[in-house]
Parts: sequence; structure tokens; C-alpha cells
Amino acid sequence: MPNNQYLISDIQRIIRAIGNIRHEYTISTLLTDSRRISNPSEGLFFALSGRRNGHEFIAEAYAAGVRNFVVKQGPEIKVPEANFLIVDDVLQALQTLATYHRNRFNLEVIGITGSNGKTIVKEWLYQLLCNDKNIVRNPKSYNSQIGVPLSVWQINEKNNLGIFEAGISTTSEMNKLEAMIKPSIGVLTHIGPAHDEGFESRNQKVIEKLQLFKNCRLLIHNYDQLIDFKTHIKAKTCFTWSTKFKQADLYVFSETVISKNFYLRAKYKEREIECLIPFLDEASVENAIVCWAVMLAMDYIPVEADKRIEHLNAVSMRLELKTGINDCSVIDDSYNSDIQSLEIALNFLNQQNQHTKKTLILSDIFQSGLQPDVLYKQVADMISIKKVDKFVGVGEALLAHKDYFDVPEKHFYPDTASMLQNLRALNFKEETILIKGSRSFEFERVSRALVQKAHETILEINLNALLNNLNYYRHKLKPGVKVMAMVKAFSYGSGTFEVANMLQYNKVDYLAVAYIDEGVALRSTGITLPIMVLNPELSAFDKLIEYKLEPVIYSFGLFDDYIKYAQDKNVLNYPVHFKIDTGMHRLGFENFEIETLCDLLEKNPYLHVQSVFSHLVASDASQHDEFTLKQIKNFEKAFKQIEKTLGYKVIKHICNTSGIVRWPNAHYDMVRLGIGLYGVDAAVKASDGGLQPIASLKTSVSQVKKIKANETVSYNRSGKLAKDGKIATVRIGYADGYLRAFGNGVGKMMIKGVKAPTVGNITMDMCMLDVSGTDVKEGDEVIVFNDQLRIEELATQIGTIPYEILTNVSQRVKRVYFYE
Ligand SMILES: *Cc1c(COP(=O)(O)O)cnc(C)c1O
Repeated sequence: MPNNQYLISDIQRIIRAIGNIRHEYTISTLLTDSRRISNPSEGLFFALSGRRNGHEFIAEAYAAGVRNFVVKQGPEIKVPEANFLIVDDVLQALQTLATYHRNRFNLEVIGITGSNGKTIVKEWLYQLLCNDKNIVRNPKSYNSQIGVPLSVWQINEKNNLGIFEAGISTTSEMNKLEAMIKPSIGVLTHIGPAHDEGFESRNQKVIEKLQLFKNCRLLIHNYDQLIDFKTHIKAKTCFTWSTKFKQADLYVFSETVISKNFYLRAKYKEREIECLIPFLDEASVENAIVCWAVMLAMDYIPVEADKRIEHLNAVSMRLELKTGINDCSVIDDSYNSDIQSLEIALNFLNQQNQHTKKTLILSDIFQSGLQPDVLYKQVADMISIKKVDKFVGVGEALLAHKDYFDVPEKHFYPDTASMLQNLRALNFKEETILIKGSRSFEFERVSRALVQKAHETILEINLNALLNNLNYYRHKLKPGVKVMAMVKAFSYGSGTFEVANMLQYNKVDYLAVAYIDEGVALRSTGITLPIMVLNPELSAFDKLIEYKLEPVIYSFGLFDDYIKYAQDKNVLNYPVHFKIDTGMHRLGFENFEIETLCDLLEKNPYLHVQSVFSHLVASDASQHDEFTLKQIKNFEKAFKQIEKTLGYKVIKHICNTSGIVRWPNAHYDMVRLGIGLYGVDAAVKASDGGLQPIASLKTSVSQVKKIKANETVSYNRSGKLAKDGKIATVRIGYADGYLRAFGNGVGKMMIKGVKAPTVGNITMDMCMLDVSGTDVKEGDEVIVFNDQLRIEELATQIGTIPYEILTNVSQRVKRVYFYE
């Protein structure tokens, strides 16, 4: 058998599972996510229990064609032809299998850990060593208890080097990763505060990380970082680097900036050597030094190391979702191409529902370690499983294997230039296009041709952060409590289908919008989740029904209008929501009106009450807790009366974001998650670290001017510098949502790491910053807000709340989405 295929009966023995093998199968793919099934006929699904019980997903995986499962309990579903391997601990079984697989190969393995830079160092080492070695490595940053086994599983007999990173968040995790990775060479990257919360102390974290290296023959690390940990280093030899200590093996004593490069000089083996690093930021320079040390420790000669490091490329793990030409959406992953990351990108493509047509532009794949026949067969199978509608293959190898591809529409070109010449004939229109290319194909040119040119001010949305925030709140809920995500006002300014697709894919239960039109827009981009409309207008009731949107009824007037409409159109049993006013005094039935409402609801054939809810006015503010409690009491009284009248249970909900954190006893059946999803919550301290701001507003410098102390800046001569200095004009004004209130020094933007205050009045499309004493140039990036310069800070500057800052960013500012 090829050595990444196993018989299911062998796997049963390896992981010591019980349960009968009813049919023999060959297994080559390990699956842990029922939404991401590939190669189902040879797949083995591990029902891992995370937040939801993994067993809930078995049916989904079965429907996708999977027939082999590792589970904790026997199957509740009777299904033909399927094998259930029963174990005590599903995750451990996955790890045991990975360890077994790893132990069959005798290759050199580099194991990397640290708080920061693991993925970059791994990818750079790959770039530096891939000409000499056939390398297997983690896809993206698959470095967790689940990611590592899936990575190690990729090892095949052709590989002669493995490069695996390991990430831990608490004690006792590293030993498990070490057993699977079994590194012979260890690399420790920067140790910082990340994940400190999972450990008693920083020291404990370092000691735990060092477990990865306990069987290494060689460890490469920063000298300074481990001075206090000498007794914990078990590796036979160490190779150290330092910028402070002469006794390090690689002592970097001089760092100079030369145009866009960092020029380093160092002492190594009593000689002076040099290295040019094509990056300027501190983190990149440190990571590059780590790679330099690794190459030297692996006996590369200094001249060769320098030559290769000089050509390092930036690592982009990001998939960017952008607005394309002719109403297309473009997923830009133009920087790298290998089969694992292709699969990840195809999953992201599948997550998009805004266009029915899905297109892949792919270049030849290098360094896969597979024979071309095998490789392109795998690629072709993957593409047909992921239901790509249109395939554009670029490169000689794809061209040579074009018959493998069974896609409704396919095109092949020998190189990027000939593809670009035929762009018109490819007729891209209203489709979602994934661009994925090996670096030498320069697919950034394809991306430039297909992406709509953006005004240079952009709002960047981090979809991973969105997901992180969703999970942060999910962990605060009891099992079974549903999540309604509030996506009104363009998801608080963050986007429409892009955000909704992510939420739908990650199985939130409900969406809510303010107006019917917002719901219609979501439906027409393929969103199928139930959608509640907070403020439905009579004039658009036809659309409400046509698009299956669920109205909130908040008054007797609206109730009347709705029933008349339903009678007229003969709409029966339609799902509706009732809003109770327990103190907000905006919309809703007040307590004294509930009795009358119940009379109307009794045996009413036109509607089905889906939910009853109310809204807290000050869930984040402890000084109003008594009032909040009163609201909750009133709410209970109301819904009890309503449920009694109806004779059936309805979904009950009252908590918004801060309510979820502060009022755990009031979660009832569902919570309504709004601003927290976008990374802001007055009830959660930023230092808690659990929430990540999802939006970064970025712009750039149009011009730099020298200004004398007696000169003035902007309209009405409003701005003055205290002494002679320099200003930068940047491409954002009040029409973009940077309010006039930020003018005259009130607001600050981040430019080259420093906060520069505004000078003079903000104008419609531009404003000026005081950049005296900095070396700011035209074209430099300017941060208006991001995860460092937080929206909360901006809100405080002009006396408003984060909600207003977020929703104010005008629609003229292009949104760019990324996903890692
Ligand atoms: C906007 C809104 C929410 C969400 O509030 P956040 O404070 O953003 O979580 C919840 N419920 C209703 C009725 C809303 O209008």
C-alpha cells in the first residue's frame, strides 16, 4: 500500500478502538470538520467535541459521503456501510494515529515554537531550503492539538525534511505535540506575552515550550532569552544568536538601514560575516536573524545563507476578498500555491454565496513531492468535489494534464502572459473568482487586472477576528442557547454578504436587520438563515413574504396592518416576533398592553409566534443594574402570559452584547450579539484580550509640506503649528466618516508608528496631520483606527460611542476582507 494509505482495520488496531468493522475501506484523508469534507470515500471523520458535540456532525459528514468515523459513543443513527470506531478520547485517537504515521519515517524534522513568528519562520525556512530538500510542513498555521496531527499526516516517503511549528495555550500540551512532531532540530522564536493567561507565569510558559526540544540534537535560540533556563535545555548542542552578547555563536553587532533593506554584520566562528534582510520592521528582522542562525547551524556557508536570505519574500497567509470588475468578487491568494492551502482557499470560495458561479484560476504547483500525474489527479478531484464551475489553468504542467479536469467550463494557458492576453475572452462576470498561484507565476498581475481599483482609503475587515469574537461569546452560553447576530446597518459598517456568509458558515442561528431592504439584499446574495426585521414597513410587506423575512411586531397598529395584509394575501402561520417594551421606550408593547395582545393572539391562524423579546437599556452599566433587573422581571411576566395564551413555547431573548457578559441568568433561549461581534464591548476590558477589533481604517499620504510657525493650515486659517514643522495631507475627510469634530488636534492618526494629531479643520475629502520631526513620505500608509489605535479611543476623543464611529465610515470607503 502507498504509505499514506491505511486500511480501516489497521487504524482500528493502531488507535485501539472497539466496534465492528463492517466493511473494509482504504483511508488516506483525516477529517475533523463536517463543512470541509474532501475525498470522502477515503476519509476518516473524527467526531471531536468542541463547543458542539462532534457527534452532531456525523450525519452531515455521512451525507457528504464519509463512511468511516472515530467516535466516543456508538452511533445513534443506523446507517448502512459505515464503520464506527469507538474510543474514550477522540482527539487522543487522532494524535495516536498521527504519532504512528510519523514514526514510520526517518526524516530530519525541524520543530519550531515561540510566541511570535512561528509561521513566518517556518515559511521562510521553507523558502530558503526548498531548493535542496523535499519539504513537508504545516499548512498555514496549523499548529494546534488538532492542526499538528493533520500536518504530520502529510508526511510521505519522498520527503527528506519536515518543518513543523507547534503552538500551545496551556500546560501539558507540548508533550503531545512533541510526540507527533519528534523534531531532531529545534528552533525557538520570539517569546512575548501571547497566551500568558494559560500559564502561571512567563517562566512556566517558557519551560513548557522547551518540552518540544527534549529529544533534539540541535537547538537554535536567542542567547538572551534562555539565560535563566539553561537547566531546562535538553538538546545535545545549541546554536545561539544575540545582538547583545558576544559569546553567542552568531553575534550580530551592527544593524544599518540601506534603502529598503536591513544590513547586518555579525561575528561567527571568529570571522566577520554579513547579511542583507529585505525587510525593515523589527519583527521581520528578528525572524530573519533566526532563519540566518538556522542556516548556519545547518552548516550552510555564510555567503550562501546571505544570498538566499536577500531574496526572502513576504509571507502572506491571508486570503483577501475584494470587489472585482463586472460585479465579480475576487479572493486573492496570489502569493503561494500548494495542495493543502488550495483546499483551504477552496473552502473559503465555497463559503461565498453572493454569486452562483465559482471560478478558480490556478497555476502549476511546485514542490509537492508528488509525481505530476498523481498531483494533478488530486487537484482535479478536489476541484470537482468543491464544485468549481469554471477553471482556468496556467502553466505547462496543468496544460499537459488538462484532460483530468472535469469542470463545466475550463481554459488552459501555458503562462501568465498568455492568460492575461485572453482576459476578455474569459468573460469574467458576476462570479466569485479565486486566484491562486505559485510565486514565479506573478499572479499579482492577474489580481490587478481583476480587482476594481480602490480609492486609497480602505476599511480592512479581519474575518478571523470576527470568528474569534463569535466564539468568545459562544463560550459564555449554556448549550442550546441560540445566537442571533445583529447585521443591521451594513453589519455596523463592516459589510453585507461578506460578514453574513461567515456567520452562516459558522452556524449562527439567526440574523437581524433593521429594515426589509437590508434583508432582501442578504437573501439575494445567497443567505438562507432565518432573518428577523426589527422595523418592517407596511409598504414593503410583499418583499417581506417573498424573501421569507420575519417581521417584528411592536405595536397594535402594526399588528393590525400585518393581519389585514395576511388575510388579503392568504398567508397563514407566518413566523413573526413580538417586541416587549420593558423600559427602553422606543418600540414595543408595554406591560399593561400584554393582556390585549394575548386576546389578539389567541387562536390567530395568520401567525406563528417565533419569538418574544425585549431590549436592555443599560446592560453594561452597573449603576443601572437595579433597573436592568426590573426589565428582566417585566420581560418574564410578559412572555409567560404570551406562552400561556399560545399553548406553545417561543424563543425568548433579551440580552445584547454586554448583557451576554453581565447577565448570564437572562440568556433564556437566545442572545442578540451586536457590537461584540465587531470587537467592542463596554463590559469587557481590552486587557481581557478575548475580543479582537475586526476593522482597520487605513488611508495614505497625498502630499507632505514644510510649514512655518506663522503660517496657517486649512479653511478659515484654523490650524497653526507651534513652531516650524511639517504636515502631511491624507486622503480622508468628513465625507468618508472622519468627522469634523476630529479637527484641530482632537483626533490622531498613526503614521510610521507615531500618533500624529490633526492640524486645522477636517475638509470634505482630506485632512492634515502634524508630522514634524518624522520622515513621512508621500504614499505612506496612515492608520485611522485598528487594533492598536482603537475605536474606543476615537470615540472618547470626540465624546461619542464606538457604535457611531463604526457605522459612520462611508460606503465610498472600499471594504477589503481577509481571512487567514
Ligand atoms: C442593535 C440591537 C442589538 C445589539 O446591541 P449591541 O449592544 O450592539 O450588542 C440587540 N437588540 C436590538 C433590538 C438591537 O436593535
